[in-house]
Amino acid sequence: KNFEALGLSQPLLKGLAEMGFENPTEIQQQAIPILMQHDGDFIGLAQTGTGKTAAFGIPLLELMDTSSKDLQALILAPTRELAQQICGQLELMSKKMGKLNVVPVFGGANIMGQIKDLRRGAQVVVATPGRLMDLMKRKEISLNALKFLILDEADEMLNMGFREDIDYILSKTDVGRNIWLFSATMARDIKKIVDTYMVQPEEVKI
Ligand code: AMP
Repeated sequence: KNFEALGLSQPLLKGLAEMGFENPTEIQQQAIPILMQHDGDFIGLAQTGTGKTAAFGIPLLELMDTSSKDLQALILAPTRELAQQICGQLELMSKKMGKLNVVPVFGGANIMGQIKDLRRGAQVVVATPGRLMDLMKRKEISLNALKFLILDEADEMLNMGFREDIDYILSKTDVGRNIWLFSATMARDIKKIVDTYMVQPEEVKI
């Protein structure tokens, strides 16, 4: 099956073609149809390098309301490098879809510049947990209109000591949002997050 068979829109198909993405990887093949049809929580168990970013990025871009300037999607990632990679991939994939404001925020960089970027408007924020929590406490980010909360490499975020930050962030989001959690393993502390915050998640494992 190619991307067209997954029923994607023309602008997104063009973006993917320009990136040289012809056929979906296994996680994309399995996750994209579920995420596009199932209004609810989701767990994807897959190693890094398997194409996870597009597995959540493609359905996210198709489901977002690009005409609304509200912050609709938050993606949490363990490191600055991964956050930047995710932003770059979302920008490339959405290139033919019309302007999408994707803002990265991460620790170890000046917070004032990030606050300026956020104030200009963010439809998608890609963040490391500590910096996001800081920005929430400064009231520079509100998660009220959030529809999608994506945890990428959740096991890695917990290994890096972000558990309390993640609990804080998850507890400040409305129950109306969908959580999409990606992890290489279903460790005990991941299970705890799933049981505390997620409702009857669909699960895909590759
Ligand atoms: P990820 O696991 O999302 O970090 O992706 C790993 C690498 O595979 C990245 O360099 C992506 O650009 C690339 N990639 C992801 N999906 C596809 C695809 N369907 N076809 C070709 N390359 C891909």
